[in-house]
Amino acid sequence: MIERGRVPHALLFVGPEGIGKRTVALAFLQALNCAVSPGEGCDRCPSCIKLSRLSHPDLLFVSSEGATVKVDQIREVMRGLTMRPLEARWRGVIVDGAEQMTLEAANAFLKTLEEPPPRTVLILLARKAEELPPTVVSRCQLLRFFPLRDEEVREVLRMQGVGDPAAAAFAEGSPGRALRMDIDALKTLRKEVEDFLAAGDVLSALELAEHFSRDRDGAKHLLGVLLSFLKEELWVKADEGLLDLLWEIQRVRRSLDDNANVRLSLERSLLEVLRYR
Ligand SMILES: [Zn+2]
Repeated sequence: MIERGRVPHALLFVGPEGIGKRTVALAFLQALNCAVSPGEGCDRCPSCIKLSRLSHPDLLFVSSEGATVKVDQIREVMRGLTMRPLEARWRGVIVDGAEQMTLEAANAFLKTLEEPPPRTVLILLARKAEELPPTVVSRCQLLRFFPLRDEEVREVLRMQGVGDPAAAAFAEGSPGRALRMDIDALKTLRKEVEDFLAAGDVLSALELAEHFSRDRDGAKHLLGVLLSFLKEELWVKADEGLLDLLWEIQRVRRSLDDNANVRLSLERSLLEVLRYR
């Protein structure tokens, strides 16, 4: 877009949390404004640094307050846009969590979305386009972001020098999620899975399922750890039964997002593991 000189006035980035929508939005604004490396961004000049720290005077950044983006926040942005830019070639507006805009906020924003001042880019970040009013979506150029592969998540963690690479296995394609994971809790989980695999009996399966029966997120992480163990095993022996087991556990883990019964899901997965072994 930058190379072709066709910068849209409104962009909508959609995709799961923690996969880099905000990072890309800021990189885009850096590329538009960087004098050292125009069209690329250098990440070192004052403009690039201020953008990445969200402290650039010509960046208007809005995110939800409480559970919503309120109409007053949007009005504030619109007021900001009536002033002349201070130093930027391109002014940027980022609305993080745009699906949380109240209907009033979204409606107030429509005219600006359609016709922002010149050299202004509005970037809306949201989980799903369907969660936004169609009137908003239709005024933006849509870009979809997809979950990363496990190795890509590991690569991001490595590049940032943070996080446990094992977290990649249950980050569901989101480096942000992997970074937010509590490594100590992760180690405890791994220990619990190891103990279960070592014991290898029905009683320990039932106990583990019971232990997580009221903790949906914990149960998902538990299955994530279990999956990472099984994937390691798959490297050693490429076995069809093991592959089926992986698919099944992945399916169960997804079903936990749709309110499947936690205890039953865990019991079923753990007993499947025992049956395979
Ligand atoms: Zn720069």
